[in-house]
Amino acid sequence: MTTFTQLGVHKNLVKGLSEMGIKEPSEIQLEAIPLLLNGGGNLVAKAQTGTGKTAAYGLPLLQKIDSKRKVIQALILCPTRELGQQIAKQLFKYSKYTDPIYTESVYGGARIDEQLKALQRPTHIIVATPGRLIDLVKRGAIDLSAVETVVLDEADEMLSMGFKDELDEILNMMRRVDDKWLFSATMPQGINQMIKNHLSADAHKIEIKGPNGVNKKVEHQFLICAPEEKSLVLLQFLASQGTNQGIVFCRTKETVKNLVKDLYAKKIKVDCIHGDLLQKERDKAMRGFQNKTKTVLVATDIAARGIDVQNLAYVVHYEMPSSDEYYTHRSGRTGRGGQSGVSLSLVTSKEVKQIRALEKKLGVSYTQIRRAK
Ligand code: AMP
Repeated sequence: MTTFTQLGVHKNLVKGLSEMGIKEPSEIQLEAIPLLLNGGGNLVAKAQTGTGKTAAYGLPLLQKIDSKRKVIQALILCPTRELGQQIAKQLFKYSKYTDPIYTESVYGGARIDEQLKALQRPTHIIVATPGRLIDLVKRGAIDLSAVETVVLDEADEMLSMGFKDELDEILNMMRRVDDKWLFSATMPQGINQMIKNHLSADAHKIEIKGPNGVNKKVEHQFLICAPEEKSLVLLQFLASQGTNQGIVFCRTKETVKNLVKDLYAKKIKVDCIHGDLLQKERDKAMRGFQNKTKTVLVATDIAARGIDVQNLAYVVHYEMPSSDEYYTHRSGRTGRGGQSGVSLSLVTSKEVKQIRALEKKLGVSYTQIRRAK
């Protein structure tokens, strides 16, 4: 086994990792860490949540920071507040035993005055959503002139959220920066264009297939039922899970809203996240789920992006996702950190062919589950 130390990670960071139970580098970490520690340059990595990508760029980034220089040395761009906070939290934990490294996360949809105040403290790393970053730079609250590393995390999601112009603007400001590291779960045309416009032609490329980067043991199951039976079947499944936590995914916010009402009426400890909620409502739902007051979270794909809740026992596809990427992304929520997890799809008989297609495409095998009578 190759260790983090052998990859060149400093012993104080290794100590922090070890305390988090992270002992063995994942595939992307094995590939990216030595590369980024040795001069780095530009990197394009195709990898999704659950592969350990945050540590793959976070450890080299932390190691590059000179904590004595009280200037912003690294910028991490990401699509959502939730992901930004997760990244900042991970960096904080990794660096528990290093000299103090200060990270600030800033994002839209929250009060700017508090962020302005927070930015008056010494800051080494900024984690930001693109729009809010530009706003803060224009107000003179963030000085990017000493930045040496720029990370784009979930670049595809930033584009699909409509941040293209903002990203172009920021990357134009960052032309002199040599170390630009882009992470994306998918590589649509818009991403390739962005790479062409803003990264060097000889950028290193890494591709990590599948969500199984981090000791994943996911059992894929499907159950055939009629649409009107779904909520009952779900209740039976939830009953079998007891206090185990999991996420139930729907395609639309309407389904989320209706399902939550049904589950709530059945006394399930449930909350939801979807696009119509205010940021503070989303935060409240996430807090309740994280502190285990709620056992079930019902979510749309977009709203669930970037949330990192560990050791989920299961995910349920209440409605099949609109893309294979979403299926992988959803399933990546369970079976983390060596624990096994269930990814259960509730499908109509017509949708079974989608299951067979996923089986082939993602190389997973499904078990058919039958309804308890
Ligand atoms: P990420 O892909 O960065 O969203 O990470 C997914 C989860 O895996 C996070 O909760 C990390 O703390 C955890 N993790 C990261 N690297 C490893 C590793 N090498 N071994 C076990 N867990 C890890």
